[in-house]
Amino acid sequence: IRTSCRSSNPAPEVSSDQAVGMVSFPPLQTYSEEESMMREAVKKCAQERIAPFVSKMDENSAMDEEVIKTLFEQGLMGIEIDPEYNGTGSTFFSSILVIEELAKVDASVAVLCDIQNTLINTLFTKLGTTAQKEQYLSRLSTDMVGSFCLSEAESGSDAFSLKTRADKHKDYYIINGSKMWISNAEHAGVFLVMANVDPSSGYKGITCFIVDRDTEGLEICKKENKLGLRASSTCPLNLDNVKVPEKNILGQIGQGYKYAIEMLNEGRIGIAAQMIGLAQGCFDHTIPYTKQRVQFGQRIFDFQGMQHQIAHVASQIEAGRLLTYNAARLKEAGRPFIKEACMAKYFTAEVATLTTSKCIEWMGGVGFTKDYPIEKYYRDCKIGTIYEGTTNVQLSTIAKFIDKEYDH
Ligand SMILES: Cc1cc2nc3c(=O)[nH]c(=O)nc-3n(C[C@H](O)[C@H](O)[C@H](O)COP(=O)(O)OP(=O)(O)OC[C@H]3O[C@@H](n4cnc5c(N)ncnc54)[C@H](O)[C@@H]3O)c2cc1C
Repeated sequence: IRTSCRSSNPAPEVSSDQAVGMVSFPPLQTYSEEESMMREAVKKCAQERIAPFVSKMDENSAMDEEVIKTLFEQGLMGIEIDPEYNGTGSTFFSSILVIEELAKVDASVAVLCDIQNTLINTLFTKLGTTAQKEQYLSRLSTDMVGSFCLSEAESGSDAFSLKTRADKHKDYYIINGSKMWISNAEHAGVFLVMANVDPSSGYKGITCFIVDRDTEGLEICKKENKLGLRASSTCPLNLDNVKVPEKNILGQIGQGYKYAIEMLNEGRIGIAAQMIGLAQGCFDHTIPYTKQRVQFGQRIFDFQGMQHQIAHVASQIEAGRLLTYNAARLKEAGRPFIKEACMAKYFTAEVATLTTSKCIEWMGGVGFTKDYPIEKYYRDCKIGTIYEGTTNVQLSTIAKFIDKEYDH
């Protein structure tokens, strides 16, 4: 994947085979050749090299090192990073397709890839100094996982009321506080920590610090025992007099809140891709069963009561995918996308909830057991309504846009 995508050419609008008979507006589900290749390659890789680990990782609540190695080897942890820094040099839309394909197989693996690409790498690429890029981007694309540390025990949706503070001394800062819910912390080599350098200025003191894993005073605490997404580690962090040199500030002092908002706006499209991949993966496991299982002398798929439900869910998945791709294409085109990203994230989380619930029902008793992967999809999907902004937060943002649009 890595080698094949290292092209300096920008992705063409459409591949030649898809272009046949096309006028000027390609359908949303049109991929460049590079995107198609990436999608196919990830699909194959996920089936062959990730799927065999999924059930065990869920049971053990642990990401297998082999899976992380595969993601790095395949260039999936540095999708948009420039080849100059060992990255794959591909696009945001490719990241979305990769996250979707991985989530069809395992949502935990998808979120590892999602956070690395849409939050960590993007922050370093956009804001890093040359020295920071040289030090971190090459590692992030080849062997280092990164974690994004915003949430705290008392600041979740109200993220910018965070209490972690960073006090300046000569040419370094001392960080004290704690973080909650930090994804991938178990394996992370670097943590992007939001801390306030001047609480008297409120959120305008929030600053983004690069904290290396082995920094004295940084403690990665016991991971949470979760309903779903169990292979993805989610840990609290303690920061006890953590000394960080001034050169480890990412971007500008006091701009951390802005960076977090910007990243999460983009990141939400990644979570939408995760949810739509998860829903599709669950659906793909279930439909063949409904075509084999016989009751009352016929396939259960043939009952009209089943067909209408299946068609309804398939339509919801399609709608969610289109919302997601549209938000991603808008972002990539440099056009406003925040409302659309919120809609995609909100809607796909609902679709994943509906799909996984219905799939269990369509499978009957066996859907409720761990002999089939359906119950795992059902548990994994719930996170979509919570992280990177809860459903209520998405709805409030969408409503803010609507309010403005009707302001005259
Ligand atoms: C598995 C997992 C992984 C995570 N990974 C990360 C990570 O890597 N980094 C990170 O920084 N954080 C991470 N988080 C934290 C996540 O972003 C927060 O849990 C989320 O923002 C919600 O915050 P909260 O849990 O404090 O809930 P709260 O903010 O307490 O919300 C509880 C309820 O109140 C509602 N609510 C709150 N405010 C309003 C309002 N103004 N209007 C209407 N309803 C409202 C919410 O919608 C929700 O239903 C993760 C969380 C989980 C569970």
